[in-house]
Amino acid sequence: MTTPTLPIYLDYASTAPVDVRVVEVMQRYLTVDQLFANPASRSHMLGWQAEQVVEQARRQVADAIGADPREIVWTSGATEANNLALTGFMRANRERGMHLATSTIEHKAVVDTAAALEKEGFEVTWLTPGRDGCIQPEQLRAAMRDDTTLVSLMAVNNELGSINDIAALAGVAHEFGAAFHTDAAQATGRISLDVVAQQIDLMSLSGHKTYGPKGVGALYVKRHPDIRIEALIHGGGHERGMRSGTLPTHQIAGMGEALALMQQQFDDDNAHIRRLQQRFLAGLQGVEGIFANTPLDSAVPNILNLAFEGVDGESLLMALRDVAVSTGSACNSASVDPSYVLLGIGTPRSLALSSLRFSFGRFTTEADIDHALTLIRHAVSSLRAPPR
Ligand SMILES: *Cc1c(COP(=O)(O)O)cnc(C)c1O
Repeated sequence: MTTPTLPIYLDYASTAPVDVRVVEVMQRYLTVDQLFANPASRSHMLGWQAEQVVEQARRQVADAIGADPREIVWTSGATEANNLALTGFMRANRERGMHLATSTIEHKAVVDTAAALEKEGFEVTWLTPGRDGCIQPEQLRAAMRDDTTLVSLMAVNNELGSINDIAALAGVAHEFGAAFHTDAAQATGRISLDVVAQQIDLMSLSGHKTYGPKGVGALYVKRHPDIRIEALIHGGGHERGMRSGTLPTHQIAGMGEALALMQQQFDDDNAHIRRLQQRFLAGLQGVEGIFANTPLDSAVPNILNLAFEGVDGESLLMALRDVAVSTGSACNSASVDPSYVLLGIGTPRSLALSSLRFSFGRFTTEADIDHALTLIRHAVSSLRAPPR
């Protein structure tokens, strides 16, 4: 058996390495003898050529979610897309209503944006998910009001891997005349996305969670009927006035290529990752006191959030120097706060503090899994051993 390169990277849900095929595409758009021009330059051919590259990537991203290219707005990532969706929509639709519904276990880019909107005078209902990390359509229906204009619920949770039924939730939002936004940063390449079939009005995407570059993302903004949002970044009126700034051709081309590859490899990637997940779980069978925070029957296969009873998560993280994983907890100078997502699904504080998130990807190998298992079994048993 080949020994894997250390540390073993099991933190794909934080970010993924860029696929070399994506890097090759990106490299064409940077230097003086290449297509480096400003895609907004109308006065010369180099500008038009760069624009064509951007438009092809726009089509690739649109194709990946069943959208029209004119519905894609480039952003710096899913964080900005979430900010633009929530703040841009609520401000533009103020006269229709001031109420927004979301959940307590959204990514911070949604949670903190909704909290900022509360300070601005908007009202937010914070839905609490069940133990499975999901919001039920009936629960959303009970929270809807006459003045609800937007519902924002994520497609796949980044800490748990749980999957919301976004089509059903969007259906409820529309019954009440509200628009539906979903943060799909973790969903691309994991579940199939189709903005038409799933009735999505706004969808946030990220490049780097699916083997594209960091620093680029997109917001899908439905055109028929027209979803109105106000720009947060002004200057020049790029992206049909919704997001100004010179477009980073290489980043955009990279994200387009990454999502095109994702579509081609969707089945292969998921079969590979499912095998790794099964191997990982099987390898932990003999270890007692492990609980899955991830709803295993209904989650994406690449994220496994596990609690190790009686083991401090931070200590386990330290002991696993050769495995790159994350806890989801937040460290203050004085103490460690358990993950708000785990607390949000009702995980007891002590178990939340004993939890780690393992996430796999396209480049994870069986040897990586086997070696990580050896290290994990060893670390858990030595941390549980009574002190001598
Ligand atoms: C990573 C992530 C984001 C942030 O995306 P960036 O492109 O890094 O800004 C937002 N939401 C979810 C669910 C994520 O996993």
